[in-house]
Amino acid sequence: MSIQVQNITKLYDKQKALNNVSFEIGSNEIVGFLGPNGAGKSTMMKIITCYIPPTAGQVKVCGYDIAEQSLEVRRQIGYLPEHNPLYLDMYVKEFLEFVGGLYKVKEIKKRVREMIDMTGLQIEQNKKIGALSKGYRQRVGLAQAMIHDPKVLIMDEPTTGLDPNQLEEIRALIKKLGKEKTVMLSTHIMQEVEAVCDRVIIINKGEIVANDETHTLQQHTSKQIVTVEFDSVVAKRDLEALSGVEEAIATDTNTWKIIASLQADIRKELFNYAVKNNISVLTMNKEEQKLEDVFKKLTKNQ
Ligand code: ADP
Ligand code: MG
Repeated sequence: MSIQVQNITKLYDKQKALNNVSFEIGSNEIVGFLGPNGAGKSTMMKIITCYIPPTAGQVKVCGYDIAEQSLEVRRQIGYLPEHNPLYLDMYVKEFLEFVGGLYKVKEIKKRVREMIDMTGLQIEQNKKIGALSKGYRQRVGLAQAMIHDPKVLIMDEPTTGLDPNQLEEIRALIKKLGKEKTVMLSTHIMQEVEAVCDRVIIINKGEIVANDETHTLQQHTSKQIVTVEFDSVVAKRDLEALSGVEEAIATDTNTWKIIASLQADIRKELFNYAVKNNISVLTMNKEEQKLEDVFKKLTKNQ
């Protein structure tokens, strides 16, 4: 296990930012930590990376305890904080050498060259960080997070503020890194998780509300809802007997909401049923419920 979080609670004075949170992340997984603003994502990441202590609970990173072995924990972790604080007056290479020095990296110059190649910073390597675009600054942030070759990479909203092209490039880079590292990234964007992550942990108001493989969550939660209006009375049990239908709910006279799995060809089923029983279909509409909707449902304010 790369990250084990057990019963973590964090209070800022009286405000509870995390409430008894537990989860595990295995090695070489890319896990999305998803939640709306204020959910507690950054707080959790700061605890895992030893920047702030929890009020209660235990975290282990690669088997090392954050409270008792923080030096070892830091050695295992590369961290890209939320606003990616960088020294804007420093040059890219100079900055990476400086960070490498902090970690006592051996053969620093060689390692910096490797990081520059890996993150695609070749053209920009002799510029001042302040002169770089947001996308390139994120690359510098990733390079500094990776310089000591950590096993675990923790990134707090790594793509926020990037334009669509930069977004795609950084996502591809994260996926590449995920082949060899354990990656935990936070985001408030569902599509990000669908594009990048093997698993998703959804957090809301300091509590975990879902923890599942991305495709499992997609399968279990993706539904189609077909609204159909017939010209005469039909029986609920007839509709629910159609292949793929999970539930038929009468919403109006002769109007039904049919909930079905995404794979089912439910409109064809309904037409055939109507024809067979000499009924006319007056209107039919299909909507899909996507992971995005699940996220909204799980994290909407009560
Ligand atoms: P997220 O990263 O998901 O947006 P945060 O972890 O930053 O959420 O914040 C969780 C909650 O804790 C929020 O309500 C936030 O206002 C509060 N919070 C975060 N940091 C502090 C702090 N240093 N002092 C007081 N409250 C804080
Ligand atoms: Mg945050």
